[in-house]
Amino acid sequence: MRVLLALGGNAMTNADGRARVEDQQAAAAVAMAAVAGLLHDDVDVVLTHGNGPQVGNLLVKNELAAAVVPPVPLDWCGAQTQATIGFTLMNALEAALATRGLERRTATVVTRTLVASDDDGFAHPTKPVGRFLPADEVEVLVEHGETWEDRGEKGWRRVVASPEPLEVVDAAAVQVLVDAGYVVVAAGGGGIPVVRESDGTLRGVPAVIDKDLTAAVLAHTVGADVLVVVTDVAHAVLRYGAPDAEPLGTVAVSRLRELAAEGHFASGSMGPKVEAACRFVERGGTRAVITDLEHIPDGVRGDAGTVVVPD
Ligand code: ADP
Ligand code: MG
Repeated sequence: MRVLLALGGNAMTNADGRARVEDQQAAAAVAMAAVAGLLHDDVDVVLTHGNGPQVGNLLVKNELAAAVVPPVPLDWCGAQTQATIGFTLMNALEAALATRGLERRTATVVTRTLVASDDDGFAHPTKPVGRFLPADEVEVLVEHGETWEDRGEKGWRRVVASPEPLEVVDAAAVQVLVDAGYVVVAAGGGGIPVVRESDGTLRGVPAVIDKDLTAAVLAHTVGADVLVVVTDVAHAVLRYGAPDAEPLGTVAVSRLRELAAEGHFASGSMGPKVEAACRFVERGGTRAVITDLEHIPDGVRGDAGTVVVPD
């Protein structure tokens, strides 16, 4: 069995959302202990991960240091965090494997994801990134072409495009490594967003691709049987937050689409996880599971979490 595990922010930072180096290392150790368990059971694992807090931190450095060193664009931030998070996960995984007396090669692939240059997200950016700033500090950034929105009391926030992932450009490299027995970390943060120019070359763009939607594409491309979206809740929940909230167990994909259309899953958080799960199963995946770190072993087998199955 081959599994694509998509690790959410909670698997990479502290519970309070802080992303100090030691928080990231501690979170990676917990997540990779679970992955080592899967590998021990002869499950083939490919890893992807979010990078929201880490990119947020880089953007703050960009702002604060802009007068001294040139700020780097958002696609560079994506590439940089793929490297640091991948490196952290590789070390943590190898340590977790060693405690079980196991040895596997690991690799991180700096991964580009193709998006359409005419994606609606570029005309109407919606994805908030970085920290809130007061109006007077935003002016100069808007002059530099950035889009910022007035979020009231908290201040202004930058919004960027969140385009659809069309293709994981470097999936072939991932595939070669997987076939050679490597445990691969790829498409971190949804992949570095690139568009194709008319001459065929690729160009990075300032956007954020949803990591769960990219995970669904990558899972399909590398022939995964199971996609597991790992987050900080054990299930997708119906009527989330209401007194009669109801955790969702095993559900057929078309039923889940009906529930999504009824508005049960928030657009910036659970919504894309549900969408990713549906897409993966609709494209032939055996099952997609949404659950937390603790339930990874059972979730992989379809015995825990929200388990999305074909109709
Ligand atoms: P990650 O960082 O793991 O990608 P997100 O914070 O984006 O995770 O999404 C997980 C969060 O989604 C949960 O912590 C929860 O607060 C929120 N959420 C919104 N709607 C739902 C729902 N219907 N069921 C469960 N969680 C939901
Ligand atoms: Mg989160």
